[in-house]
Amino acid sequence: MTRYIQKPSPNFDARTRPIDLVVLHYTGMQDAEIALARLTDPAPVAGSYPGPWQSDDVEPDAPLSRVSAHYVVDEAGQIYSLVPEEHRAWHAGISSWEGDGDVNARSIGIEIVNGGHDFALPEFPAAQVDGVISLLKEVLDRWPDLNAKRVVAHSDIAPGRKADPGEKFPWKRLADAGVSIWPEHVAMQLSNDDPVSEVQQELAFIGYPVTQTGQMDQDTKAALVAFQRRFRPSDLGGVIDDETRSLLIALGRMVK
Ligand SMILES: [Zn+2]
Repeated sequence: MTRYIQKPSPNFDARTRPIDLVVLHYTGMQDAEIALARLTDPAPVAGSYPGPWQSDDVEPDAPLSRVSAHYVVDEAGQIYSLVPEEHRAWHAGISSWEGDGDVNARSIGIEIVNGGHDFALPEFPAAQVDGVISLLKEVLDRWPDLNAKRVVAHSDIAPGRKADPGEKFPWKRLADAGVSIWPEHVAMQLSNDDPVSEVQQELAFIGYPVTQTGQMDQDTKAALVAFQRRFRPSDLGGVIDDETRSLLIALGRMVK
């Protein structure tokens, strides 16, 4: 059993749904100390958390939304426990998965300390990834509806709005450790009838918030980029290519 450092956050409320999802994030802030302060702050204001995400003319006492997560994993792999798993932490924001818009009610949120896109996308140290893997093993073991298929990225549930934990996060290492899944690229016979509708169907089947419009609309493109960010990070162009299509089909066969 891994040792957790208790760092209680007051930012939570009651769950309304059984736990069946884990959401991984990066903190996207300067360091662990600032991220932990933000995630446990009962009345955060803009002046306490300056950063590149903030415009220069923002009032220092402008209130920020109260946020939290169940866990934070720092660069050394140390795990902090902020909100008991039984409670609903506030990490997902406006998001949707499998047609359900209240992801917080059913998920466990894990924040991984990393500056993210605002701080030049640093690598995730091996010790930190080991910490995430051991935490996930324990969390997946604790809840009957959780397993390797039920671990998603914040970018999966809020495409277009969120990009974390980002394309540098080593999802394949997690899959190799049995705490996530990873589709292998195999050459497939692909039909050329209506690739957009096929992609929309696969994305929605996996859980992504897309509508079957038959058009390459904004939501579809954003979800496709989210899928690529996680499973084909070498090209995040949001273009429907054969590799993306076969990976989508392969993942669809794995998840349900
Ligand atoms: Zn996030």
